[in-house]
Amino acid sequence: METIIVANWKMNPQSLPKAKELFNSVRNWIKKNSNILQSVRIIICPPFVYLESISKLLKTKNFRLKVELGAQNLFWEEKGAFTGEISPKMLKNLGVKYVIVGHSERRKILGESDEMINKKLKAAIKAKIKPILCIGETFEERKRGKTFKVLKNQLTKSLTHLTTQPLNYLILAYEPIWAIGTGNPCKPEDAKEVLLFLRKFTQPLFRSITQTLILYGGSVNSKIAKDYIKIGFDGLLVGGASLKKTEFVEIIKDIAKD
Ligand code: PEP
Repeated sequence: METIIVANWKMNPQSLPKAKELFNSVRNWIKKNSNILQSVRIIICPPFVYLESISKLLKTKNFRLKVELGAQNLFWEEKGAFTGEISPKMLKNLGVKYVIVGHSERRKILGESDEMINKKLKAAIKAKIKPILCIGETFEERKRGKTFKVLKNQLTKSLTHLTTQPLNYLILAYEPIWAIGTGNPCKPEDAKEVLLFLRKFTQPLFRSITQTLILYGGSVNSKIAKDYIKIGFDGLLVGGASLKKTEFVEIIKDIAKD
């Protein structure tokens, strides 16, 4: 089984040369170490404005490793009067294969609802872009013992009318909101409880596939990355640490080992 490592660059770096430099440094390391990366798939999700350039770098000759392009968001309509939005087809045309949907920063800062997320998931699947659906609870909700209820609610609403789709198109990312960007990751033993809950909850939904891929995200660093894979997560969604070349490479190295 492949382990998936998603790099969410968020709204970074601040210029195209810096974005290329970050990508190239990771790429060069991967090129040199392709032999140990057989079982790892890396998905780089830069801001929209860098997608085209990174896409070109990905296509360069002799770079046929398992590194793919993802976007951080998309809009659900195909075209028209939607100022500031980006359609699934525009992303597809740039070689985007994955898209993050429902990141907690978008839910919280930009008011994305589960209903909007549902439309985005449908649009992504229709365009054959694989969505990475983020779900997670606040600290308050965890403290009140509401984690499973919150996740169930997010999943039920965002997956409305979607469970008949070929849902091997969907990747789930459990991202406890209180762990994102805080330097305070969810302890693997607590994350495992959630993982088991999500496996149980998703299994009957997606009868056609063996298992939904589930990632962990939230302050992952190279010291703890492997712990989440050991307890059964299929991969990681890495934010801050994916912007630090050496740290990101350390995460890949650790995951790729054995
Ligand atoms: C994220 O952006 O989804 C994320 C998990 O960020 P960080 O790794 O910085 O917590």
